[in-house]
Amino acid sequence: MDGITIALSKGRIFDETLPLLAAAGIEPLENPETSRKLIIPTTRDDVRLVIVRATDAPTYVQYGAADIGVAGKDVLLEHGGDGLYQPLDLKIAKCRMMVAIPAGFDYANAVRQGARLKVATKYINIAREHFAAKGVHVDLIKLYGSMELAPLTGLADAIVDLVSTGSTLKANNLVAVEHILDISSRLIVNQAALKLKREKIVPILDAFASVVGP
Ligand code: ATP
Ligand code: MG
Repeated sequence: MDGITIALSKGRIFDETLPLLAAAGIEPLENPETSRKLIIPTTRDDVRLVIVRATDAPTYVQYGAADIGVAGKDVLLEHGGDGLYQPLDLKIAKCRMMVAIPAGFDYANAVRQGARLKVATKYINIAREHFAAKGVHVDLIKLYGSMELAPLTGLADAIVDLVSTGSTLKANNLVAVEHILDISSRLIVNQAALKLKREKIVPILDAFASVVGP
């Protein structure tokens, strides 16, 4: 394919990428929230969007099925970033990776005592590194969603999850106890595509950069 394929996930990443696409003269011809189509043409006949699961965006770009994509730092850290060029922090979909516990659990004391903690998360690699760096012993339990449920049911003592407003934690009587890292979404580019389709990709990167600012 001579044109450019851009991998985006539905929801916040799609919504917050729209103004960046517009700066590159790219407007989707269909709304992925209402359309069932997974390949969406745009106002530029050399650019199409593919709608992927957020965690799959790096995989599409890594293998060149998409030339460009947008992925959260969380997703990139779990994926590993192999074969991906990450030229730009888009400063969208901002949130924080946190450790959270049920209100009333004395986490600091458990850590001090050297207790072995059960931690449920979708972010196994990020959690493993975080607790290893702190010297905290953990058994990690992989979940695919609704992490907040794990401490409430006795599945885990703590969770590692993304927090933005904190209202989901609060609604489930959980409190954040450690900030692991700040998260935002990055532009990802297939390294071979960047070489072969440079004259099409670089202006898109420049347009995005001009909206994002320094
Ligand atoms: P789903 O919610 O359908 O299970 P997902 O969690 O993989 O899918 P999104 O919720 O759209 O996908 O999240 C996409 C990206 O947005 C995440 O990888 C993360 O970087 C960021 N993100 C996740 N939750 C929040 C949040 N509450 N506020 C801001 N950004 C977030
Ligand atoms: Mg989500």
